[in-house]
Amino acid sequence: MSNIRIGIYGGTFDPVHLGHIRSAYAFLTACQLDRLFIMPNFIPPHKAICRGDDPMLRLQMLKIAFSPLPFYDDKIIISDFEVRQQETSYTYKTLEHFKWISDDLTILCGTDNFLTLEKWKNFERVFELANIAHIVRPNTFDESDEILSVKQRYKEKYNARIVDVPMAPIDISSTEVRERIRNHQDTSTLIPHDVRAYIDKYDIYGEHNG
Ligand code: ATP
Repeated sequence: MSNIRIGIYGGTFDPVHLGHIRSAYAFLTACQLDRLFIMPNFIPPHKAICRGDDPMLRLQMLKIAFSPLPFYDDKIIISDFEVRQQETSYTYKTLEHFKWISDDLTILCGTDNFLTLEKWKNFERVFELANIAHIVRPNTFDESDEILSVKQRYKEKYNARIVDVPMAPIDISSTEVRERIRNHQDTSTLIPHDVRAYIDKYDIYGEHNG
């Protein structure tokens, strides 16, 4: 079995924003990953999306966001693995696949996802198969007591292996980006210029797609 250190960063990325991009680099560095797979999900199991979901557009926006950055060819892979499954994405299933490549797997979770890990399908298997890297999201920053007690519970109940990824908190969500685009507002501090140009070209979050 290979010991290559693999990171998996899953999410909806609808669209990818600066918080995601910075998190990916912080994860790569803090966990000294050999490869980082950034993986949009097919149908997000934890949230209902009200507009017609097109995973290929989310995938393409990720490719655009990461392509001009260093290490892109080298370590970061924008992966269509979950999109190709054409079925609801579950992290445990993705990990079952990647464990054949390496036994050193780490998934990245922002605080909102981290705190709800016990609601994920077969979450005990997720704890078995992967280390959990946690990155703080700003709105949850003041609830550090809750984060600490949840971490403790995961460790005691499920033998979770948890790593903290340090990053200056970035208060951005895809929801905010979609709203700004719908209202024809500036997003230059939230998403890369090329991603906005792609969104506008295909009217991805326009009134008819909302
Ligand atoms: P939405 O607003 O549509 O719910 P989102 O901004 O939360 O989207 P997701 O694609 O759902 O983005 O997030 C994927 C992963 O990235 C999750 O683990 C989430 O916690 C994390 N994440 C998202 N935004 C940030 C951020 N600003 N800082 C740190 N982590 C983040």
